[in-house]
Amino acid sequence: MIEKTAVASKEMVRSRFPKDKDVLFRPKAIIECYKEIPCNPCETSCPFHAITIGEDINAIPQIDFDKCTGCGICVHSCPGLAIMVAMIKNGKAYFKVPYELLPIPLVGERWLAVNRNGDVISDCKIEQVMPGRKSTNTTTVVTVSLEQPYLYDFVTIRRPGDE
Ligand code: SF4
Ligand code: SF4
Repeated sequence: MIEKTAVASKEMVRSRFPKDKDVLFRPKAIIECYKEIPCNPCETSCPFHAITIGEDINAIPQIDFDKCTGCGICVHSCPGLAIMVAMIKNGKAYFKVPYELLPIPLVGERWLAVNRNGDVISDCKIEQVMPGRKSTNTTTVVTVSLEQPYLYDFVTIRRPGDE
């Protein structure tokens, strides 16, 4: 399906989340890398060895949720912007997502939450901003919160007014 629409199906997205939703009471990396490509910064950057690609650099990355601490280093490092960190807390979903556009959001602002079709699904609160660094070729990572029912729909943020 992804070849036809370039948008991951719900089943594909769900397959990248832990089967047991309770696992997300702690932050976990969600890796939406669906195609075999020669790339592995996610594997090499993870200090906890939670991501495995192996000898064939084209292999699709696999994650061990038991090892993942949700630190977000792989989110900074993935050149394909294919990784986010998800967590559930007090009825809200929290995400660390890569963000490459300007301006960078400010903590406390309310931005728009967007799904994989590019549609606005909700607003969200900017909780934290970790700027990327050109010297290390890393991407800015923004932590946002929104209502938990959007857990499997949310994928990125958009500045209000840019609809
Ligand atoms: S979030 Fe941190 S611990 Fe989890 S896979 Fe990414 S780099 Fe590893
Ligand atoms: S770094 Fe990103 S794009 Fe590259 S293999 Fe890992 S998840 Fe896929």
